[in-house]
Amino acid sequence: MIVKTIVQTKCWDLYQVQEGFLIYNEQYRKIRPDQTKCKLCHKEFMDGDIINLAAVRKHVNIIICDKCVDKVRNTDVLMYKGKYAKQQSEEK
Ligand SMILES: [Zn+2]
Repeated sequence: MIVKTIVQTKCWDLYQVQEGFLIYNEQYRKIRPDQTKCKLCHKEFMDGDIINLAAVRKHVNIIICDKCVDKVRNTDVLMYKGKYAKQQSEEK
């Protein structure tokens, strides 16, 4: 028997990220029941998590987790802070 595993890689062309876009909670789940995890790393969001909005070329906006925001930091992706952005990160 031959078992084939097909791995699909999707390339997201981010150009803008709003840090601290919203707090993930029950209210958000009611509005967007299809968006329960980070679109990039597939980490499930928990109530109280801060979610970040990423604008993607040729795609609708996606929501991503803090770890994925850190990955695009210091690249050519335009970053700006939303209402819930972490305050402790120092500006350089
Ligand atoms: Zn992520």
